[in-house]
Amino acid sequence: MPPRPRLSIVCPAYQEEDVLPRFHAALAPAVAPLEAEFDLEILYVDDGSRDRTLAVIRALAAADPRVRYVSLSRNFGHQVALTAGLDHATGDAVVSLDSDLQHPPALIPALVAKWREGCDVVLTVRSDDRRLGWFKRASSRAFYRLLAAVSTVEVRPAAADFRLLSRRAADELGRLREPHRYVRGMVQWLGFPAAEVPFEPAPRQGGVSKYTLRRMLRFAADGLLSFSPAPVRLAAAFGLAVTGASWVLSTTAVALLVPLADPAARVGLVLLTALHAIAAGGLVAAGVIGEYLTRIYEQAKDRPLYLVKETSPAPVAAARPARAA
Ligand code: UDP
Ligand code: MG
Repeated sequence: MPPRPRLSIVCPAYQEEDVLPRFHAALAPAVAPLEAEFDLEILYVDDGSRDRTLAVIRALAAADPRVRYVSLSRNFGHQVALTAGLDHATGDAVVSLDSDLQHPPALIPALVAKWREGCDVVLTVRSDDRRLGWFKRASSRAFYRLLAAVSTVEVRPAAADFRLLSRRAADELGRLREPHRYVRGMVQWLGFPAAEVPFEPAPRQGGVSKYTLRRMLRFAADGLLSFSPAPVRLAAAFGLAVTGASWVLSTTAVALLVPLADPAARVGLVLLTALHAIAAGGLVAAGVIGEYLTRIYEQAKDRPLYLVKETSPAPVAAARPARAA
């Protein structure tokens, strides 16, 4: 008899002590129908939580043999935690979803069905849900429009980090080790046959969102800068435009004002303004270049993306050794 296919469910969790027991309680019945066909592995990634998240995960693993976990040495951020989960998952297909119940586990069989039809990547596309709050919806829509305009790969708007990857897609994604990770863009970059499943995000069922405005901006910057040279080109164009405008301004000012009585002060003022504009343009351009440079610097250091502090005791993963971080 051929071995049963394995299905991994990867759930990153950071400070989720409140919602995790409920998440697991919702996940278990949602994936139960799949157990007729698959060996299941539920892989929690504790992203260096400082609350009782790890203790909760340990208890889940003790009570449920399908549960494995990886605990990272500190908080490395959602995208890296997700990567750690994909690295350690052993399934023939790997589903990732948030552990705050915003991504409905009930949808997992639908993702698996698409994979069965031969898709390597099954994306979930968030419908524009009113419950998300106007700011998150508006900023997300604006961001994806911008990304679509400048990006070198097509990133589906509102494609959440709730998706299924085939074994080969997960392996190939695992070879991309860039430290500033924008996983949904990287998945698109793979280019494997993909399908989409729409879903309505639910409100978070406990705990708080870890994506503060600052984190959201950083995430947006990673998306833009990892997939587009447009910002630096824009900065160069801006610098050129400002410089040109300043030249025109100052020469016409000199030409017009010099014949007038006592124009020195006014000429000086105009020249000063032009100088300021040039300096500002230069600074903006330098800042944008700096953003790319720090990313090159991070990449040049070539550090592992994360360090593992603890894993679940029974290594169910014997069949496929985890890739080095
Ligand atoms: N998360 C993580 N590390 C972090 C921040 C978040 O592993 O540094 C997890 C978090 O526990 C959740 C998922 O990533 O399962 C999405 O985070 P969150 O719900 O806070 O983001 P939002 O849904 O508000 O965009
Ligand atoms: Mg959430």
